[in-house]
Amino acid sequence: MITCDTQEAWTQFLEYVKERCSKTAYENWLAPIRVQEASDEEITLEVPNIFVQDYLLSNYKKDLCSFLPVKAPDEPALKFVIQAPKKEAKPAPVVHESTTTNRSPTLHSNFYEIKLNNRYQFSSFIEGTSNQFIKSAAMGVARRPGASYNPLFIHGGVGLGKTHILHSIGHYVIEHHKNLRVQLITTEGFINDLVENLRQKTIDRMKRFYRVDVDVLLIDDIQFLQNRLNFEEEFCVLLDHFANNGKQVVMTSDKPPSQLKLSERMKARMEWGLVAHMGIPDLETRVAILSHKAEEKGLDLPNDVAFFIAEHLFYNVRQLEGAVNRLSAHSRLLGVNVTKDLVTNTLGELLQSAPREKITVEQILKSVASVFQVRVSDLKGTTRIKSIATPRQVAMYLSKLLVNDSLMSLGVFFNKTHSTILHACKTVEQKMKEDDSLKHQIDQVKQSLHCQQG
Ligand code: ADP
Ligand code: MG
Repeated sequence: MITCDTQEAWTQFLEYVKERCSKTAYENWLAPIRVQEASDEEITLEVPNIFVQDYLLSNYKKDLCSFLPVKAPDEPALKFVIQAPKKEAKPAPVVHESTTTNRSPTLHSNFYEIKLNNRYQFSSFIEGTSNQFIKSAAMGVARRPGASYNPLFIHGGVGLGKTHILHSIGHYVIEHHKNLRVQLITTEGFINDLVENLRQKTIDRMKRFYRVDVDVLLIDDIQFLQNRLNFEEEFCVLLDHFANNGKQVVMTSDKPPSQLKLSERMKARMEWGLVAHMGIPDLETRVAILSHKAEEKGLDLPNDVAFFIAEHLFYNVRQLEGAVNRLSAHSRLLGVNVTKDLVTNTLGELLQSAPREKITVEQILKSVASVFQVRVSDLKGTTRIKSIATPRQVAMYLSKLLVNDSLMSLGVFFNKTHSTILHACKTVEQKMKEDDSLKHQIDQVKQSLHCQQG
């Protein structure tokens, strides 16, 4: 039975909300709700899915209480029923389409289309100590999907090449395993699709697509799943399905699973296979990346200028790319060669954020000592107690990474052979992959060094 008053109250509530939220939010979340039953005591709403119900209650509980009957203070007298799903159409065929442009995901985005960036291939990914491991793990996965590391979880800071590697896997699989179907999704895009398909009542079709039509699933930026409780379950089910069927999943994230605010169940799934860290490229790799990008653009970039840029831009690779683009435009427009002067003039404000002075081994020792709570003299000494030996190895690793000195001269500083320094670097890199707290401490040292420079 629908009483006119309560129905009217609901209409008034909708009008009230309509003026206070965006058009998209209104159309996505509120417009699909129908009044199924309404009496003076209670109102039953028909919603397309549980997410709409959650949305309504978490955003408008107070307002609902002002318009509708209540069963207790701050508790609207609401009941919900979920709309029955409609019979669905046959899914459209999978289209593998490569494109150089990233079409922005719209709410109506077509989930069977794969969008790979042609620039992101293994052949254009420059290797160095910071990413060698990831590149070979990714190539392993691309060569034998489902058979080596599953899932492969890649984490690391912004602009370090995670998305590039993910697309490279996609390209490789499409080219070398014609029978396998690849899908690449961004977590945000997937959630939008999920909501849209729930709304359009095509969710079963979407689920079937992922279960039946996808053999290799590449998920970018899984950190966006944090605080999206309702969607975590969908991802869990999806990951289970892929794992149980020996199908490959690769995920990228800005943090390792242990540091993501997700359920233990979800984190456990992320850690099933291989968790690998993408580090900041060292000086030589940055120079190699710059030279490669310059070559791609047909820009003549002298080696000493490449070194100069690499010394001053070290947070992420995207910045290096931006630098090459800007230099290329300026040198072409002005008809001049690329020199350090041109770099200073065109990249001025970019370089300001980089260190004004070079980082020294002494500064690294001080920062390591303070983060690891040891004395600088211990770091220079020879004791092998673990609580000192580890920070000493960290100091060597960071010196190799941040100080533009040869291994030989670093060896002299630490009173060690260059092979000991190299061994320390490898040990630290390996330990960082397994020990998040060590990685965190090293990040702290790096941060404190960059602050000192600023
Ligand atoms: P992330 O996903 O980690 O934020 P991206 O994969 O988007 O980073 O990389 C940012 C840019 O830097 C991209 O244009 C990518 O091609 C480039 N890039 C990153 N790492 C490398 C590398 N090792 N070699 C060549 N280009 C790289
Ligand atoms: Mg990315």
